[in-house]
Amino acid sequence: MAKSDLEQTVGRLLGPASPEVGCDVCFDELDRYVELELAGEDADAAVPGLRAHLDGCPACREEHESLRALVAGEQAL
Ligand SMILES: [Zn+2]
Repeated sequence: MAKSDLEQTVGRLLGPASPEVGCDVCFDELDRYVELELAGEDADAAVPGLRAHLDGCPACREEHESLRALVAGEQAL
């Protein structure tokens, strides 16, 4: 097990400091989060804990980045 994996596991066991956001919640809220972000709104305040989840979850971070690129591209049209 790599050190970063261990740290992530320990972090999960200790629990997040902010309200817990799992991958399922992240997936549900990601559309809204990205739209708020691109609108210049305070997405972190609207969906507490999601930013922290993205920081700790590479899969959701990747999803966030691709969704953001997609929505930004749609708005540019
Ligand atoms: Zn996740």
